[in-house]
Amino acid sequence: MINDTLQSTPEGLYCPAGDFHIDPLRPVARAVITHAHADHARAGSRNYLCAREGRAILQTRLGTDARIDALPYGQTVNLNGVALSLHPAGHIRGSAQVRIEHRGHTTVVSGDYKTHSDPTCTPLEPLRCHTFISESTFGLPIFKWPPVAEVMAAIDAWWRENRDQGRTSILFAYALGKAQRILASLDPAIGPILTHGAVEKINRIYRRDGIHLPETRHVDDAEDRELRRKALVIAPPSADHPAWMRRFPHRSRAFASGWMRIRGNRRRRSVDRGFVLSDHGDWEALAGTIEASGAEAIGITHGYAAEMVRWLNERGRQAAIVPSAYADNPPGG
Ligand SMILES: [Zn+2]
Ligand SMILES: [Zn+2]
Repeated sequence: MINDTLQSTPEGLYCPAGDFHIDPLRPVARAVITHAHADHARAGSRNYLCAREGRAILQTRLGTDARIDALPYGQTVNLNGVALSLHPAGHIRGSAQVRIEHRGHTTVVSGDYKTHSDPTCTPLEPLRCHTFISESTFGLPIFKWPPVAEVMAAIDAWWRENRDQGRTSILFAYALGKAQRILASLDPAIGPILTHGAVEKINRIYRRDGIHLPETRHVDDAEDRELRRKALVIAPPSADHPAWMRRFPHRSRAFASGWMRIRGNRRRRSVDRGFVLSDHGDWEALAGTIEASGAEAIGITHGYAAEMVRWLNERGRQAAIVPSAYADNPPGG
């Protein structure tokens, strides 16, 4: 029991009064989805509710059979006397915080969020509430993100140098959110941009939604060797295996992730470059957003939850871990 409004159950967070789950782990009657990453959106529930901005993405993820209702950001629906609204989380396109008001008590479930700039989605809206459930994927002070413009300039410079040396630049980034965020800020004048199928599929939805992305081509539609050696290729980390990489014999490999903030991770992935770019909040963003909520009770989930709880408790805040079954290395990291 988190409070009178929300419970932590084996299926995930559950609101008994409104009879809905948030990002349930198993099929339920009504699932409110914060965003379409696989560790939050699972198929099989009878009804779904998400933010309108994320509807097309969620439908693609869950399949055409899924019954999805969509709500514009900030609009309230009444579910058995519980007022529910969705608010921008700035994590990926369509990502939402869930605000629940019941008997004068306001609870906000953050989902994943960030405060650094991202041209492909609506920025995080800080919310005041009594109970705040926050993610803590990067909940350690060592996680401090550099300015996005600096990271993008470094990616462009790496690409330019590889192009001049006749090497393909292969950048691993999560297919949903991170890949499009990078695409939207690259300098397309440097050379051709090629994509893995998983990235191209999401690009199509973003473009249909009116998000401007530079021209991209599926790698299979770009056989020309000379072109490939000038290209930047965006692929999900799962594409990093010999069978897929064979088509780019001269290459430099890089990974764009918050985890690249830790030196050992670049070595472990054996990539040539690590770009620190995350769709989650860094330490400052997490601590700042929790503070700005003004919440008297704080629940922490995802990642370094124990560390964040301890830090809050030491400051006299009422905080506890909210158990979750999310992946340790979630998409968007
Ligand atoms: Zn996510
Ligand atoms: Zn997540």
